[in-house]
Amino acid sequence: MKDLEADQATVAVMSEHLSAMQSAHKADPVPSAEVRIDRLRRLERALLGAKDELIAAMQADFCHRSAFEADLADITMTLGEIRENRKSLKRWMKPRRVGVPKHFLPARGRVLPQPKGVAGIIAPWNYPVHLAIGPLAAALAAGNRAMMKPSELSPRTSDRMARMIAEAFDPLEVTVVTGGPDVAVAFSALPFDHLMFTGSTKVGRMVAEAAARNLTPVTLELGGKSPTIVGESADLAYSSQRIALGKTANGGQTCVAPDYVLVPRALMADFAEMLAGAMRKLYPAESAGRDYTGLISERHFARLQSMLAEAEDAGTQIIRLDDLAIDPARRQFAPALILDPDPGLTVMQEEIFGPLLPIVPYDSRAEAMAYVAARPAPLALYIFTDSREERDAWMEKSLSGGAGVNETCFHAAALPFGGVGESGMGAYRGQRGFDTFSHLKSVFYQPKRNGAFLFDPPITDFKRRIARMLQRIV
Ligand code: NAD
Repeated sequence: MKDLEADQATVAVMSEHLSAMQSAHKADPVPSAEVRIDRLRRLERALLGAKDELIAAMQADFCHRSAFEADLADITMTLGEIRENRKSLKRWMKPRRVGVPKHFLPARGRVLPQPKGVAGIIAPWNYPVHLAIGPLAAALAAGNRAMMKPSELSPRTSDRMARMIAEAFDPLEVTVVTGGPDVAVAFSALPFDHLMFTGSTKVGRMVAEAAARNLTPVTLELGGKSPTIVGESADLAYSSQRIALGKTANGGQTCVAPDYVLVPRALMADFAEMLAGAMRKLYPAESAGRDYTGLISERHFARLQSMLAEAEDAGTQIIRLDDLAIDPARRQFAPALILDPDPGLTVMQEEIFGPLLPIVPYDSRAEAMAYVAARPAPLALYIFTDSREERDAWMEKSLSGGAGVNETCFHAAALPFGGVGESGMGAYRGQRGFDTFSHLKSVFYQPKRNGAFLFDPPITDFKRRIARMLQRIV
């Protein structure tokens, strides 16, 4: 634990800065829509201005990252979120009507969204811009100030983001803190008014513990093993194409990537072959080196190698796509399909977070459902099927953070997004993000002409009769 202690000076600077930000917030606790829109405009302009350098930084951090992927996933998607927040925040800020139970009539109820104060945001490296700036946009739309800690594993991107934010914002509005796990530990111990953490389940637990000491509310966007089910009536050609993309995008380093596939036993061999074919089609010789993203570090590369070696040593059937024209020297890791693996293998125990894909056969839908239900609630679950009945059965009976029907990953960018159980708590994107970073204050409006006096002491027989009557009608 000693090496996870940031030096005292760093801790003091962060903590003093947070106090200063909280004082600035208290001086203007409910910034107008115009102030929030201006902050989001500045964020948008800053992102557009730094776009090329951010893409270059991401390419360097990953050793090789597809520029197209970085532009689409980290710049375009993030811009979309900033703009949606900017355009919708006036509507989201409005008081929301809520009904009161009839026995409280003629009172009225409203919910008033209010900024919480200063939000802390801890971000991972895999989509280093999107997963840092997306939550920031939501926090600003909700009228907060924010302090952000991006990942040390994508250091060039984190530094470029820090500079971008420092150029666009007063440090009392938004600040970026960079540093390693020692700084992250100290950061998560700060008394923020809300803390959003995106990262692994293991670190998420520590963050929740640290936040609990301050009673800081947390949103935990975590990971896990997201199952993908090839249904009994799935279109194998279509399914394999979509699953191939979901698994290999960003070199497999996507929190909602299919972690393993459940396939009807009779279809397993055909499906595996089609999946390998679909991956080869995505990465033909002339463009694979360009379009296929590398792993974030040598450590991550070695981890996947050892998972694969363990499966091989156990005699598991493996289809390796070693023939792809990619370059291990740029940490591009060849995809591999692992057929019918032993449940004890590391690849079936840990979140894979890379382009290895176990294919697990099942004999009945009930067995497949029991398999998923016996494991921690995943961040995502995908069902590929042409049967409405099969689709609805999976959607109604399985518990996961989010889900996709005949598609992987897209829900995480298009819809309110969050986990459940070990894959996280809370959600963001769109109004869910605004609400996450707001305190939704209930306000009870009592008209002066009301019946409340009927229950005030002194209690008479008449009042007792009214109270008894009330018990029948509530
Ligand atoms: P990680 O948990 O190792 O690190 C995430 C962040 O936490 C980094 O900024 C790091 O500096 C910080 N950190 C490290 N140790 C800490 C500590 N003890 N206390 C506080 N903060 C600490 O995760 P990662 O490797 O960056 O990302 C991969 C994981 O994140 C995967 O499990 C993946 O599924 C998950 N993920 C989830 C989502 C989501 O939206 N749910 C998105 C992306 C990644």
